Amino acid sequence: MDFDMLGLAPRLIKELERQGITDPTPIQAQAIPHAMNGRDVMGLAQTGSGKTAAFGLPMIDMLLKEQGKPDPKTARALILAPTRELAKQIQENLAAYTTGTHLKTMLVVGGAGIVGQIRKLERGVDLLVATPGRLIDLLDRKAVRLDDTKFLVLDEADQMLDMGFIHALRQIAPLLATPRQTMLFSATMPKLMAELAGAFLDNPMRVQVNAPGKAVDRIEQSVHFVAKAAKTDLLLELIDKHRDERAIVFGRTKHGSEKLHKLLEKKGFKSASIHGNKSQGQRDRAITDFKAGKVKILVATDVAARGLDIPEVKHVYNYDLPNVPENYVHRIGRTARAGAEGMAIAFCAPDEMGELRDIQKAMKADIPVAGGRPWARDEEEAKPKRGGGGGGRRFGGGGGKGRGKPGGGRPQGGGGNPGGGKPGGGNRRRKPRKPSA
Ligand code: AMP
Repeated sequence: MDFDMLGLAPRLIKELERQGITDPTPIQAQAIPHAMNGRDVMGLAQTGSGKTAAFGLPMIDMLLKEQGKPDPKTARALILAPTRELAKQIQENLAAYTTGTHLKTMLVVGGAGIVGQIRKLERGVDLLVATPGRLIDLLDRKAVRLDDTKFLVLDEADQMLDMGFIHALRQIAPLLATPRQTMLFSATMPKLMAELAGAFLDNPMRVQVNAPGKAVDRIEQSVHFVAKAAKTDLLLELIDKHRDERAIVFGRTKHGSEKLHKLLEKKGFKSASIHGNKSQGQRDRAITDFKAGKVKILVATDVAARGLDIPEVKHVYNYDLPNVPENYVHRIGRTARAGAEGMAIAFCAPDEMGELRDIQKAMKADIPVAGGRPWARDEEEAKPKRGGGGGGRRFGGGGGKGRGKPGGGRPQGGGGNPGGGKPGGGNRRRKPRKPSA
């Protein structure tokens, strides 16, 4: 199938060809015809599937057909994304796809000066890519209005929900033109998504490319049972073995991730870090340096777990396990992209057994053990202290061998209850930790 079979304008197809984009990806082949017919679209697709063009090309095509220019302080199409990085990536892609047309794209995200954004919005814009918080700020300041906005895209909608943007979406959506066309893209479809779709979409066509599980098949996953205090040594050892390959290390907190990044640097591993305490400039630089291969290791919180299209990440280390199981899938999805193979290595300390169970439950599979053995219930209960806590096991392996080879131990093997404990029962329940991206 070609793009012209999808009904896109010849000039747009020519520009795409010039950029080496000749064959629609599956999500594009499915979504574009419906979008061109004016239907709302709900797409299940991950970054790397070509979803930006799937929603971007029909919008560009329709805006070109409508001709006209945006009025001052208006946007003809609005694309909302959860993170600044993703928003930037989308805007860059849309800018590329609109090369040679009169259409203007613009990015409005937090962390960048608002005055320049207000000034730029004065002239109006065709395709506005925004994070919800900054957009609301600009709406409050009357720097932009949305009553001319006939196209709305909610990208990575699941992450927007996770990040608590539902309130912002409820505030923004009614401000748009009626009728409008809405497209929602999400990497996962949690139950809440149906509610979101019900609230914002009108009889949407559902399109879907390979279930998120498919990409995961190419990822070699493993877990090390390792005391908290021994995680750093294990990480250093593993990354030392793969010095020339790109890796992302996920931590849970901003502070912890920064500390880890500094320690890696001290130990001679060039790394960059990305989390919510970094300025936008620093975040952009970290991604650029990592993409360019200037640094091989990126230490990140979940802010970088989704949406980023970074090629050739060989290893993803879950230095801390995510407390939301879906984030595990998103994190490991940073590797094995574009058909490549990848490895996802998880570190599980005693107090993370609950997280591990939840992840395995969500994945409907156990993660093979690469080191140590699963923590027993009494070890889980004991809060690990510095130096490995009372148990003093350096690595979960117990005994002198430390973390040995897998030895076939499966998580259930160590006497832990495999199934995720008693839901709501006497089991020590983790307090929901605040995501700290
Ligand atoms: P996305 O999933 O939208 O983040 O796209 C991932 C990457 O694939 C981007 O760098 C796009 O420019 C590229 N891309 C999108 N559609 C196509 C296509 N039909 N053929 C080749 N590359 C594409």
